[in-house]
Amino acid sequence: MTVWDDLVGQERVSEQLGAAARDADALVTAVATGAPQPEASKMTHAWLFTGPPGSGRSTAARAFGAALQCTSPDRALGGAPGCGFCDGCHTSLVGTHADVEVVRTDLLSIGVKETRELVRRAQMSPAGGRWQVIVLEDADRLTEGAGNVLLKAVEEPAPRTVWLLCAPSLEDVLPTIRSRCRHLTLRTPPVDAVADVLVRRDGIEPDIAAAAARATQGHIGRARRLATDPKARERRAAVLKLPMRVEDVGGCLRAAQELIDTAGDDAKQVAEEVDVKETDDLRAALGAEKGGRMPRGTAGVMKELEDRQKRRRTRTQRDSLDLALIELTGVYRDVLTLQLGSRVALANTEVIDMLERLARGTSPESTLRRIEAIGACRTALDRNVAPLLAVEAMTMALRAG
Ligand SMILES: [Zn+2]
Repeated sequence: MTVWDDLVGQERVSEQLGAAARDADALVTAVATGAPQPEASKMTHAWLFTGPPGSGRSTAARAFGAALQCTSPDRALGGAPGCGFCDGCHTSLVGTHADVEVVRTDLLSIGVKETRELVRRAQMSPAGGRWQVIVLEDADRLTEGAGNVLLKAVEEPAPRTVWLLCAPSLEDVLPTIRSRCRHLTLRTPPVDAVADVLVRRDGIEPDIAAAAARATQGHIGRARRLATDPKARERRAAVLKLPMRVEDVGGCLRAAQELIDTAGDDAKQVAEEVDVKETDDLRAALGAEKGGRMPRGTAGVMKELEDRQKRRRTRTQRDSLDLALIELTGVYRDVLTLQLGSRVALANTEVIDMLERLARGTSPESTLRRIEAIGACRTALDRNVAPLLAVEAMTMALRAG
């Protein structure tokens, strides 16, 4: 096992990162021993990982971060850093290494204040004497102001600081920032490779793993959730039946309302799991008695937490709805595949009867139009159109002709 094992179907990226980690290691060793520093190096201070959702952008960034902290004695014998076993690798991967900070946000945006905090941290020398690694999982969520704060840090990094930024695509990152990063593109991993990793790493039964990998078309995180969470399977089953329920106006409106409600339930579930504990923890930290009044002057901090939790619920709800729309797109893509007789593997074989019925009963043009309607709905939601309105417009468009 090495730190690269979780990087599914990304051989080229692993190779590049491995080479950079090797050069980074040579540099650290040269400085420590007073030897001359190597001239050419594949190592650099700012990296940008892009790729479709589920391709493993943050997995790649974290694996690289771990390899940079690798202290395996095998390195001296020509072994590559990133053994996966040594203290440096291990603590980096489980998130307890003092010099690896992974920033993942459950909010819609990352503001100036948080970014300043990060930049301050990035200036510190690494406690372990190797690299100060900052992984920013959602670089696409930086506000413009936050982006400018980050830009200064990326332009003039401290000698041992490494920024690892992740975003869906290059266009999602400020041009000034991306031009200073080395760019790596991840691809959607093959379905077989995803099934493989579910079996190997998560101990999931091979047929369940294969079905989940096929259904999510190479999205590792969603495949794992589908294979392990019965609620996720229930939600998916409901979405797959939607095309049969949009036959009249009443059916369309009901289907739309249900999609919204399901996303709301999802957000509520997450909120119940996280919010209560978070609030209790903060109350305790502020010195409140259990169930008692809050000490003076703490109202502002509590209010800040409430706002944060509210924004997180909004994001969870949005993500959940978007996931349903992606699944629905998959259904119509399967219909189109059947209609065009192409040899692409179907994603939703569990509803093959319905797919065939839809393929026979409609034209490829109308299927394309439906796929476009779902895309338009996703765009509208992205632009903050009221969710129910956007989804109703979509279900109505799925019905017509
Ligand atoms: Zn190691």
